[in-house]
Amino acid sequence: MDFNESDEHALLRKEIADLVRQFPREYWRKKDVSEEFPQEYWDALASHGWLGLLVPEEYGGAGLNMYEAHLAIYEASRNGAGVPGGDLLMRTYMFGSYPIRQFGSAYLKEKWLPRIAEGRALFSIGHTEPVAGVNTFDIETYAERRAGEYVINGQKIWMTLAHRADAILLVARTKRKEEVANKSDGLTLFVIDTRESKIRTAKLPASVMRPLGENVVYFEDVRVPEENVLGEVDKGWRYLTSVFNAERLGTASVAAGAAEYVLDLAVEYAKTRSVFGRPIGSNQAVSFPLAEIKIYLEAAKLMLQKAAWRFDRGEDPSVEGNMAAYIAAEAAWRAADQAVQTFGGLGFSVEMDVERYYRDLRLFRTAPVPKEMVFNFISRRVLGLPRTFRDSRARIQL
Ligand SMILES: Cc1cc2nc3c(=O)[nH]c(=O)nc-3n(C[C@H](O)[C@H](O)[C@H](O)COP(=O)(O)OP(=O)(O)OC[C@H]3O[C@@H](n4cnc5c(N)ncnc54)[C@H](O)[C@@H]3O)c2cc1C
Repeated sequence: MDFNESDEHALLRKEIADLVRQFPREYWRKKDVSEEFPQEYWDALASHGWLGLLVPEEYGGAGLNMYEAHLAIYEASRNGAGVPGGDLLMRTYMFGSYPIRQFGSAYLKEKWLPRIAEGRALFSIGHTEPVAGVNTFDIETYAERRAGEYVINGQKIWMTLAHRADAILLVARTKRKEEVANKSDGLTLFVIDTRESKIRTAKLPASVMRPLGENVVYFEDVRVPEENVLGEVDKGWRYLTSVFNAERLGTASVAAGAAEYVLDLAVEYAKTRSVFGRPIGSNQAVSFPLAEIKIYLEAAKLMLQKAAWRFDRGEDPSVEGNMAAYIAAEAAWRAADQAVQTFGGLGFSVEMDVERYYRDLRLFRTAPVPKEMVFNFISRRVLGLPRTFRDSRARIQL
């Protein structure tokens, strides 16, 4: 056991932190209010090579792994990029480079990996539907095979960035639910090029990650060449669980980093705001919750490191990944809530930024994985308890 950080990792942290600090709170506040994509931030990440972190060297990237990816995402959020800035990096790594380098054909690798590294491929993912949220098996979007291509019909919701995405990682059924004995069968993943396959999007107004933007997406006879299938047809569930594990690692890194940032804002304010002739931080009612959050955060970071370490050893990271997602989400939510409380009335002022973190950091208790589903998973997988719910049509263990 060695908790010392390598020089390479310390340097990686410092370099991305230095870059991200060039985009201060005011920058993200403006983007939040105007709901404008952070193009300058994206361009800076691209020109300094950060978008290609997981892209193999032969495709123009750095060829690094999940441990380094989680560090980069964490440092971006920890140094002011918050939830939207960290999430943007997370999406590029976990929905773009990771699945394509891991499961993609030579065609998909050659097409997308260099573009990701150059900052020319913004990725969105589509699995949630009006009728299918935490139960992915209920999706109805259907891809029908016709003469060398697929014709896709269906509707997705909550597709972050779909309105400006270059590529979409789409989950669709290639066998209908009624046709399969096991609902995990017949799911297929596609990497859709939005320039060649036209989709229709409608804005879904939302209170979180406003610089990125949420969408309802309509697939109406969308024609997708068959070489855009990721991995094997009908076996998409296998790849999707891996993408979900990567996403959990990534979003927990965003949550932990942004929580640490907002905790710092609260601590600084508690040191400097004087009421009854003394700093408010000298009251234990103010300082103890902040101390408790710090403990949660350090525990979340350790769990994240273990999940990333398992990932890179090719082991199943799902237990640690789910635990990290839960504990980071709880730490993040408490940090944002306590920051608002510490700032008093000013906590509600847009110019103080903590209200923005309050909105954004609430997300992780619900998405990508609600805490109830983490508890379901840990109850069964780790504690061996009988499942608390039953979907009569599903034979697979969630
Ligand atoms: C800002 C934002 C961005 C998102 N981005 C994307 C994206 O880019 N792409 C995408 O595909 N999706 C995206 N999502 C969707 C997100 O993944 C889902 O909202 C999430 O998975 C929950 O699904 P749902 O909203 O349909 O909830 P439901 O599945 O309807 O569940 C509702 C509630 O019931 C609880 N529940 C359900 N069954 C059980 C049970 N058996 N035991 C205990 N509790 C249960 C759930 O935990 C949840 O709290 C995003 C969502 C948000 C809010």
